[in-house]
Amino acid sequence: MKLYLDFQPCQECNTMMAELSSPEMLFADAKTRADESAKFLRHLTYNHDEVVKAVMNDLPKQKRDQEPGFYK
Ligand SMILES: [Zn+2]
Repeated sequence: MKLYLDFQPCQECNTMMAELSSPEMLFADAKTRADESAKFLRHLTYNHDEVVKAVMNDLPKQKRDQEPGFYK
């Protein structure tokens, strides 16, 4: 899943994003990477609800594209 988000990352975001893209993390096992991603998503949920809202606003649009008859 790819998300392009437009928001102001705080210091904690920057730290976690740096950790997620660090060589150690790239070579870590899948579970460690999943844990780190989950941690970052949790942080976004609790500290940057504008990001969560942006993602939620995007979802109905995708659903509409997939189900053309649904909203008629
Ligand atoms: Zn943050």
